[in-house]
Amino acid sequence: MIPAILATYARANVTFERGEGAYLISTEGRKYLDFGSGVAVTALGHAHPHLIKALTEQAQKLWHCSNLYQIAPQQRAAERLTAASFADTVFFCNSGAEAMEGAIKIARKYHAETGHPEKYRLIACTGSFHGRTLATLAAAGNEKYIAGFGPPAPGFDHVPYNDLAAMRAAIGPETAGILVEPVQGEGGLTVGTVEYLRGLRALCDEKGILLVMDEVQTGMGRTGKLFAHEWAGIAPDVMGLAKGLGGGFPTGAVLATERAAVGMTPGTHGSTFGGNLLAMASVNAVLDVMLAPGFFDQVNQMAGLLRQRLEEVVASHPKIFAEQRGKGLLTGLRCVVPNTEMVEKLRNGGLITVGAGENVVRLLPPLIIEERQVAEAVQIIDKVAGQWTL
Ligand SMILES: *Cc1c(COP(=O)(O)O)cnc(C)c1O
Repeated sequence: MIPAILATYARANVTFERGEGAYLISTEGRKYLDFGSGVAVTALGHAHPHLIKALTEQAQKLWHCSNLYQIAPQQRAAERLTAASFADTVFFCNSGAEAMEGAIKIARKYHAETGHPEKYRLIACTGSFHGRTLATLAAAGNEKYIAGFGPPAPGFDHVPYNDLAAMRAAIGPETAGILVEPVQGEGGLTVGTVEYLRGLRALCDEKGILLVMDEVQTGMGRTGKLFAHEWAGIAPDVMGLAKGLGGGFPTGAVLATERAAVGMTPGTHGSTFGGNLLAMASVNAVLDVMLAPGFFDQVNQMAGLLRQRLEEVVASHPKIFAEQRGKGLLTGLRCVVPNTEMVEKLRNGGLITVGAGENVVRLLPPLIIEERQVAEAVQIIDKVAGQWTL
């Protein structure tokens, strides 16, 4: 008989009942150090008092009201996100895939509106991930996820990541823009180099096309700045956010410049739930914490420490780990042994991690981790590697 929950996930046999900061507690009462954060979602850990307060206060007033009316917390969140970024305007949605769908629509509409309706194609990169809707699957072009779901949505070309020459060569008369992750998350933590990201910006300016960034995973502080593209000192024209944005409350956003969003007039896009009051209470609470002075100093200090300790682990277990990878607290280890087995063994050892492409184990701790939790995680990894029977 088919399971009551459609079996699209390979689930581990553990049920979490409670969370406290960087820890998850299972129904069996076991405490796990959470370096998965629900795949980069619970950016401020579990049960953060400020988030609980903001959400419960809003819950007592109003949960939902349609986007046919003014929504004050949504207005506030949009003003804060635009003030803290390159963007002039924000569209709120509910997930990463939806944010990227919105970003793709904005890029196409820009050209239709500015006299070039023939420009609708986006050039994306192999090894990328943009979501599971039909357009975002086609955008990433991963055969494994596309197969069996009919003809892929048209309008996407693919070139290797970190290859500026290939990107330039792929631009044609129908190209509307370039779509990239600043660091490929699901793909295995390949970091876009500063030269690459700057080169993409220059290329878009030269060709009159838009730079669309998928910061669904890298955004909201994950790499040690609010948005990962800031490391390269450049800005996209359009950007998708989700994962950490609501600190665990499902929400996404598309950010754009005034120029790029020129065609997005009333009726061109919409969402029933997008910008919901509970979601916006969460976003504002997350921003309160992340925009506080010094927040990212601590994040970068912990990221530096974790990176250094992971380098040591890799050096002491060369038959288990190939290298340390990633940026900020979007970090991980490329394994020599199968990454799925590593994730399982680490979990049995009390550390939650997440697999990724290229045989990588992702370590995505909440941005609030402290030195002792870095030490605890490294100790578990070192122990599991030491006990591995090859
Ligand atoms: C997770 C992810 C998405 C999809 O987000 P969903 O909320 O699962 O739809 C898109 N892009 C990137 C880079 C992601 O990491």
